[in-house]
Amino acid sequence: MNAVSPPASRRHDSAQARWERLPVIRTGEDYIASLKGRGTRLFLFGELIDEPADHPMIRPSINALRATYDLAIEDPELATAHSPLIDAPVNRFLHMPTGPHDLVMKNRMQRRLGQITGTCFQRCTGLDTLSVLHSITWDIDAKHGTGYHRRYLEFLKEAQRRNVLIAAGMTDPKGDRSKRPAEQADPDMFLHITDRNEDGVFVRGVKAHMTGGWNQHWICVMPTMNLGEDDRDYAVVGMIPGDAEGITYIYGRQASDTRSMEGGDMDQGNAQYGGQEVWVYFDDVFIPHEHLFMDGEHEFAQEMVARFTAYHRASYVCKTGLGDVMVGAAATIADYNGVDKVSHIKDKLVEMVHLNETIFSSGIASSHEAKPLDSGIYMNDGMLANVCKHNVTRFPYEIARLAQDLAGGIVATMPSEKDLENEEAGAIIRRFLKGRDDIPTEDRMRILRLIENMTLGRNAVGYLTESMHGAGSPQAQRIQILRGMDVEHKKWHARKLAGIEQA
Ligand code: SF4
Repeated sequence: MNAVSPPASRRHDSAQARWERLPVIRTGEDYIASLKGRGTRLFLFGELIDEPADHPMIRPSINALRATYDLAIEDPELATAHSPLIDAPVNRFLHMPTGPHDLVMKNRMQRRLGQITGTCFQRCTGLDTLSVLHSITWDIDAKHGTGYHRRYLEFLKEAQRRNVLIAAGMTDPKGDRSKRPAEQADPDMFLHITDRNEDGVFVRGVKAHMTGGWNQHWICVMPTMNLGEDDRDYAVVGMIPGDAEGITYIYGRQASDTRSMEGGDMDQGNAQYGGQEVWVYFDDVFIPHEHLFMDGEHEFAQEMVARFTAYHRASYVCKTGLGDVMVGAAATIADYNGVDKVSHIKDKLVEMVHLNETIFSSGIASSHEAKPLDSGIYMNDGMLANVCKHNVTRFPYEIARLAQDLAGGIVATMPSEKDLENEEAGAIIRRFLKGRDDIPTEDRMRILRLIENMTLGRNAVGYLTESMHGAGSPQAQRIQILRGMDVEHKKWHARKLAGIEQA
């Protein structure tokens, strides 16, 4: 395909010019239109793709984000909120939490979107980034007398007015893990400032496996870990338009992703929706001062990461929506097989629901326990958020195992949709790949393909691997739980009850 590069005029364009390229988005259709003709450089299978929004492998991930716009129209109570900042209703993904209720509603919306899409709908990282920036810019200003919070509020107002999407560019490739950013042999192993002029700064580096990175209008680049004095150039937070000059995207593969290019819709399992991770290379990309929210204040990097993970680890209740789909698929195949009344089948479904609701309970409890920060924004409880995410690193695997148990080995050995369509092979398949007489073979195959999709195929990325590593791998949560568990206080209670004299 022919590739179009962004015009060089975008190299140093102003903050205002960057906003003026973006429309006001109201509907899912508006959103899809907003992605077209951007002239981005995106590699997929070794080729630059001219119009990624129309590519059959990419489109399902765009549909998943589109669902966040559609839901706001279908169920405004759930998916919109009143913004005091612009005194108007906004998509809940752009609303800053002003109390525990906002965070609880966010979790309910996330579960619903998981049920609708059966995958990662990619918009929560942007919300959680905006939420963190509210308090971090406030705190940096309080210490250094900078003007980041005002800039941030101006950005947020415009983002709310235009109803745009923001991707979180947090994960650097990291290179030699024993070395700090400034010590790496390749200085670009962590994204950093390479140059500056009177209007802004230039950054170079890569942000890895960025969720929905191409599908969004802005990318917020930010540090991935704590930084020291020598790492000042790496302490940078800024908003960059997805179509800025100097950005190259490389699309991440997912299991069975080319099934979307084979024609038909059955073998995909979930033909409508998918997730997306991309590698994004920033080659001296410009950020105007108005869109810069940290510039060298390295001592705030660790706190920024900690607050982001506190928000985002509770956002992982999204996986309970996918868990609802898994339970539904397992119950449906049991039904189609004529074994839905068998006691051990019902017991396995109960186990799946128990695990799924355990995830939800820790996430929603974290939101109910939210407390205000100095900037006035609310943040959910960090300990419970880490417990939620830690549950997510384990329970979906057990839920998926039980779904495969109920599905039977056929989930991984079934003939293709094209064989089903073939006159001779199709007749054999329709006759013998049957369960209950009154259930068409094709329906049985479709529900099995959905289970395959979510446990082995394309959306197993969203349901399993992302559950393991997204928002930090399991050990990252254990470290946070260790830091917050206050074992001395627990020992004091134990000694008191045991009648041991307290020091
Ligand atoms: Fe949202 Fe879940 Fe995807 Fe994170 S993993 S962006 S919380 S849907």
